[in-house]
Amino acid sequence: MRIQFDADLLSAHVRDVADFPREGVTFKDITPLLGNPATFSSAVDAVVVSFGRGSIDKVVGIEARGFIFAAPVAYHFGAGFVPLRKEGKLPHDTMRETYELEYGTETLEIHADACGDGDRVLIVDDVLATGGTAAAACELVERTGAQVAGLAFVIELTDLGGAQRIADHDYFSLLTY
Ligand code: AMP
Repeated sequence: MRIQFDADLLSAHVRDVADFPREGVTFKDITPLLGNPATFSSAVDAVVVSFGRGSIDKVVGIEARGFIFAAPVAYHFGAGFVPLRKEGKLPHDTMRETYELEYGTETLEIHADACGDGDRVLIVDDVLATGGTAAAACELVERTGAQVAGLAFVIELTDLGGAQRIADHDYFSLLTY
């Protein structure tokens, strides 16, 4: 099921910041959307309704902006929240996945016991760009034995082709550019 939400209102609360964090990148700043009670709650509600209450056991948030959406989504589902963090931040035994960025590499980690067999997991992040982060998140969740039930993003930058990297999974983006 897909919920009706005011995409124009949400979009009006996403700010383009030119040349951040480096020249040539247009950064999608979601802080105005987070700071407005109506847009923050409708973004969270849209994700929850699209995947259906009761259908998700764990919600994985990707550090750091993914945490902001994943935690309230997990609360609404009555699901657990699982942080997926940059290398060296999680204190217990981890599984890790290294993937290519435009410049260099990035490593994400998950606690090895954070989810497992039989868990249906929803992965949440703020932006789907090239899809490298999302694909690494799927890989990590599946390595724990859990099943990726879907992915949700506030923003998808369609020209960067991230959807192809997660083509095996159900996914939902609130806003596409
Ligand atoms: P990617 O792995 O290329 O899909 O990049 C996704 C990750 O990078 C997400 O966790 C985003 O937070 C961040 N990101 C990538 N591009 C942007 C952008 N233009 N504006 C804001 N965040 C971005």
